[in-house]
Amino acid sequence: MTDATTNDQLGGKSLFGTVTNPSNIMPTKMGLNSQLKFRCHPKVSCFTACCGNINIILTPYDIWRIRKPLNLSADEFLLRFTVPTYLEKTDMPGVKIHLDAEGRCPFVTPEGCTIYPYRPTTCRYYPVGMSFFHEAAEGGTSEEFYFLVKEPHCKGHEEEQTMTIREWRADQGIDESDEMNKEWMELVMRRKSFGQQATLSEAAQKIFFMTSTDLDKFRNFVFNSSFLSIYDIDQTTLDVIKTDDIALLKFSFKYLASSLFGTNDLKIKSEKIMAKADELKMSQAESEAKAEETYKKLREDRDSLQESIANLKK
Ligand code: SF4
Ligand code: SF4
Repeated sequence: MTDATTNDQLGGKSLFGTVTNPSNIMPTKMGLNSQLKFRCHPKVSCFTACCGNINIILTPYDIWRIRKPLNLSADEFLLRFTVPTYLEKTDMPGVKIHLDAEGRCPFVTPEGCTIYPYRPTTCRYYPVGMSFFHEAAEGGTSEEFYFLVKEPHCKGHEEEQTMTIREWRADQGIDESDEMNKEWMELVMRRKSFGQQATLSEAAQKIFFMTSTDLDKFRNFVFNSSFLSIYDIDQTTLDVIKTDDIALLKFSFKYLASSLFGTNDLKIKSEKIMAKADELKMSQAESEAKAEETYKKLREDRDSLQESIANLKK
C-alpha cells in the first residue's frame, strides 16, 4: 500500500529504492514483464498495517496532488501534514508526512486511506521498489529495475492474484506519478551521485526547498523578483505558468536543473551573461592590481631591509 524513503530507522520502504532492512528485499531483479503475486484489499488481516511507523517522502507532485482536493495552500499543507527531512542521504531538503503521536499516517482510518485517489507515489509503489543505475555525467543514461519488498506483516503476498509489474504500475497509477516526478527524481539522484565531495550552499538549499515544496511561493518568485531580468523566458511559457500549476511544476524542475547543475534548460539573458563576464574581468583586473601592489610593497620592504643591513655594516 505504501512505500517510503528513510533517513531514520523506520519502516522498510523507499521512494528512491533504498530499504532500511535489506533482508526484506527479495534478491531478484525484476523487469516490467516480471510476475508479481500480490493483492491488497480491505479484507486482508493486516489492512492499513503498513500505514504507520514509516517515512513517506513527498515529491513536489505528491504535495500538489494531495493538497488541492484538501483545498489547502502549500503553506498550510506543509505546516499541518509534513516535517522537513533530507532526501536520499543528500543535503537536499524535502518533506515527509508527519506521523501522529502513535506513529500512524494522519490520513489513515480503520476504513483505509482517506486520500486514496491522491495518495503519495511511495504508497502506490509498495510492495514494489524501483531503482535505477544512473550515469552521473550530463546526458548519462539510466537503467530502471524493480524489486519486491516482502515484509512479515504484509499478508498481501499470500493472496492468489498475479499480474506483471507493468500491469501493477497501471493499476496503481504509477505511470502518471513517475512521469510527473521523473525530472525531480533525476535531480536528486544526480546530486546523490556527487557524494560528499560537493555541498549545496545554504542559499541553494533554500531555493531547492522552496521550489520543490511550495508552488505558490515559486510562482511569486518567478513573477515578483529579479527572476525575469535574469532568465529569458518566452511570453507563451509565462502566460501558461501564470495559471497552470502542472506547467509551473515542470518549469520549476528545469529551473532547478539550470540553477543547481548549470544545465541549459533555462536561457540566461545575454546582457546578464555580458554583465557577469564584465564583473569577472573586473574582479580579475582588481586581483591583478592588488597582487602587483603587494609585490611592490614586498620589494620595498626588502630594499629597505637591505639598506638597514648595509648601514649597520658601515
Ligand atoms: S497516505 Fe494513505 S496509503 Fe499512504 S500511508 Fe497514509 S493512509 Fe496509508
Ligand atoms: S496487504 Fe500489505 S500493503 Fe495491503 S494493507 Fe496489508 S500490509 Fe498494507
